[in-house]
Amino acid sequence: MKLLFEKSIDSRKSSFLAECDVPTIDLDKDILREQSLNLPYLSEVDISRHYSQLERRAHGVNNGFYPLGSCTMKYNPTINEKVAKLPGFVDVHPLQPEETVQGCLKVLALAKEYLTEITGMDDMTFQPAAGAHGEYTGILLIRQYHIKHGNVKRNKIIVPDSAHGTNPATAAMCGMEVIGIPSTEDGFVDLDKLRAAVGEDTAGIMLTNPNTLGIFERDIKQITQIVHDAGGLVYYDGANLNAIMGVTRPGDMGFDCIHLNLHKTFATPHGGGGPGSGAVGCKQFLAEYLPKPVIELADGQYSFVNDLENSIGKVKSFYGNFLVVVKALAYTMTLGNEGIPLSAMNAVLNANYLMKLLSECYTIAKPGICMHEFVITMDKEAKEHHVTANDIAKLLIDHEIHPPTVYFPLIVPEALMVEPTETEGKETLDEAAEVFLSIYRNAINDPESAHKAPVLAPIGRPDGVGAARNPILRYKNED
Ligand SMILES: *Cc1c(COP(=O)(O)O)cnc(C)c1O
Repeated sequence: MKLLFEKSIDSRKSSFLAECDVPTIDLDKDILREQSLNLPYLSEVDISRHYSQLERRAHGVNNGFYPLGSCTMKYNPTINEKVAKLPGFVDVHPLQPEETVQGCLKVLALAKEYLTEITGMDDMTFQPAAGAHGEYTGILLIRQYHIKHGNVKRNKIIVPDSAHGTNPATAAMCGMEVIGIPSTEDGFVDLDKLRAAVGEDTAGIMLTNPNTLGIFERDIKQITQIVHDAGGLVYYDGANLNAIMGVTRPGDMGFDCIHLNLHKTFATPHGGGGPGSGAVGCKQFLAEYLPKPVIELADGQYSFVNDLENSIGKVKSFYGNFLVVVKALAYTMTLGNEGIPLSAMNAVLNANYLMKLLSECYTIAKPGICMHEFVITMDKEAKEHHVTANDIAKLLIDHEIHPPTVYFPLIVPEALMVEPTETEGKETLDEAAEVFLSIYRNAINDPESAHKAPVLAPIGRPDGVGAARNPILRYKNED
């Protein structure tokens, strides 16, 4: 497919600029461009067709099944987008006087009320812009707590090997030493190893739950107890809260601090680099360290409070990505008390249903009940038949199914991480299972042709490592 620059024809312009309604000014020569700007020239219909063609080449949730693991919601209800587009939310400026944005402040206060209730926390900030950014904020709270209590030597964070990759990275970014502990055979935190790892230098533990194997930590209360007994704090990576929301609460399991990915579980699309929100909730004893400003309600008026002696400061300009919080609030209010647990139960039911169907051929990395996602291993097939996780992913593309997450988590060789989500119906899951099973059988019978997939996509097997290491993101003009 040609790029806009390659389709450009000099004489073709489609810009109809309004007449200038401000005085024209002659600019100094030395700040003028020497050459005219190199822009593509196309007619409007050519541009329109170009973008429609691009759209047809992309696979989105509106095109078909999208079982990409560790990304929770795929379909985000349109009503939340509509609410977030209301002029009262869009046409405000972060420096406007508080009395003119009372409704916006109420949105932040209400979202905090509902999400602290759902997580079992006492307070919350919406400043962090992403999940990893939320982790960073949460670990800074824990660090600040230890410093304020004179425990500067507590500088070690325990991270099980089934944690999300951002967890150890976060701890390191916060100046902590990362203590990794391997999981048991079944994929759970090894309690003996945890007991051996904690001590006077433990700042805390970061626990991803459900872990990256898609399973709920069975001994979760013992885990929080062991770390608390050693004087550490416990952090819950709640990026994928859709597995448990409304059913059980991290606050009740003993966690002190949590982040949520509002752009995974609460109605903002994940991925694409768009704005996100890594809301951070905490128990009351950590609230004084939260980023500032915080919102206070007094005499029916909301206001920002900046005068907070122990706050870790700011982690982002203003109040975070406000419109993402608007969507999360709209979603939470639409589902309500009954819808929130139902959504979680559907996510778990769909994952278990699909896992059961696929286990007819595929090897499930950790068999047993899964939460919102499960992990397949193609280790045996790779060794015995030269059919890899990558081959299955590529074969699915020819059947208009988005591939699962591949080669993650790292503790599972040849991993395919599958997450159907709460919105898919039984028919879609049945159809998808048939495709998964038939491509598996065909690939084992004929690995050679599996290696050629995809044959229907515009590109087949690009050099993934090359693209990551040496990205070419700009069009280079010939002249
Ligand atoms: C996605 C995810 C993160 C990181 O969130 P980002 O918004 O991508 O920074 C952290 N932990 C878990 C478990 C996740 O699934």
